[in-house]
Amino acid sequence: MRVEIIETVLAPAREMTPMSEVLGIVIHQTGDTDIDASAEQIYDWHVNQNGWAHIGYHKIFRQAGDVERGRPEEYQGAHCPGANGFTLGYHVSGSFGGKLPTDAQLQSIVAAAADDCEKYGFDPLGILPNGKDVISGHRDWLATECPGAMLYSILPQIRQQVAEAMQQGAV
Ligand SMILES: [Zn+2]
Repeated sequence: MRVEIIETVLAPAREMTPMSEVLGIVIHQTGDTDIDASAEQIYDWHVNQNGWAHIGYHKIFRQAGDVERGRPEEYQGAHCPGANGFTLGYHVSGSFGGKLPTDAQLQSIVAAAADDCEKYGFDPLGILPNGKDVISGHRDWLATECPGAMLYSILPQIRQQVAEAMQQGAV
């Protein structure tokens, strides 16, 4: 393991759909509001306000580099229609239309993605059967700003760094 996931005690509000097979990762931003959203905050939005079963995302990348557990990975998230059944949702806290995530966030994203690629056996530089990248941005799937133009622009570097981290092995 390259990065420790901080377990949260957020309970599902109801039954969730099991994940069949994890084939990739979809990357998101908080949105228009540039805040360091926590798993607890997102739980409030998604469960208490939207009425969802749990946080829509599986991992939350905080600006100091902490990675918090969202929805357990054995269950399909609610982050990207068309991809929820076979991808992990990575939420990067902040708004990245005009700036990049912090260096600490980027390091954690690369480390977590390398761990997940090894755990689930997929290639960070690979392509899904439907032609999308194995590590994609939300906007690859539907019309949305997410994960922000700046973060989206560096996804090729992130994929490359994940591949390099995997070659170096777990630390
Ligand atoms: Zn998104």
